Amino acid sequence: MYSIWLLEYGHVYRQPVGSVLAGQHNKGFRELSFTYMLVQGNGHNILIDTGTNGEDETTKKLHERDDVHYWQSPEHILKKVGLTPDDIDYVLITHAHYDHMDNLKAFKNAQFVIQKKELLGWVEAMVKPPKFRAPHMALKPDNIFEALRLSVDGRMTLVEGEVKNILDDIDLIPAYDGHTFASQIVMIHNPDANWFNVGDIAYVNENFTGIGGDGVYVPVGLGVGTQYHMIETLDDLVKRAEGKLDQIIIGHETSNWEKFPSKKYEDNLWVAEISLADGTASKIN
Ligand SMILES: [Zn+2]
Repeated sequence: MYSIWLLEYGHVYRQPVGSVLAGQHNKGFRELSFTYMLVQGNGHNILIDTGTNGEDETTKKLHERDDVHYWQSPEHILKKVGLTPDDIDYVLITHAHYDHMDNLKAFKNAQFVIQKKELLGWVEAMVKPPKFRAPHMALKPDNIFEALRLSVDGRMTLVEGEVKNILDDIDLIPAYDGHTFASQIVMIHNPDANWFNVGDIAYVNENFTGIGGDGVYVPVGLGVGTQYHMIETLDDLVKRAEGKLDQIIIGHETSNWEKFPSKKYEDNLWVAEISLADGTASKIN
């Protein structure tokens, strides 16, 4: 069994609703959390995504554009759960956008895992002429260069399609040509529940539940593929979760801090304790 914590590393006060929920223009702004997830158990400290490197000049500009506040380093964030970045032995990357894969250099002892089509899809996109780059707005090319370097060095595993037990009781579920070329959802089979980290397949609950809870899936407002692929992925996940939406963790959704036992620290950032393995002490007391 794994213990699971959702760790906020930055906070956005004003994200246009139209970018969170496709087609919902002139509907104001939403708050978002920027997070990664720690999954601990079976001898592993696994991180789902890396977050950003707020000390990098390019990232600073992206943080400013995206209204990201209170950024803190993985060193600072992981200290809250008693770890350092060097303790992380696996990093499962949901997709290559900068808020999920900007900190590859921070985890020196980690083996990274990404979908092959995700990495190579961005390589192909990046070598197109600039006029094709509108869907690259959440991409930081240096991260793709670094991911390729890690792949060449054998520290990044490129998986193809669905993978059962990438680590004990952890599966990877691909989502092609939607939000990105090949995002992946991480499914954790725990005795208490099957937990899902959906990456950016959804930004907020309404992507699953619909506008005003009308039950009509809403794709996120940013993608390289089709809205139908995004909707099909949402539906596939609801089926895999047997309709239990509270087991589908949306990392950008600020309601996580009310939904799960959580603590807000002096840095204004939250930690949620999603699942605790037997005998594991709470880290938020
Ligand atoms: Zn994101």
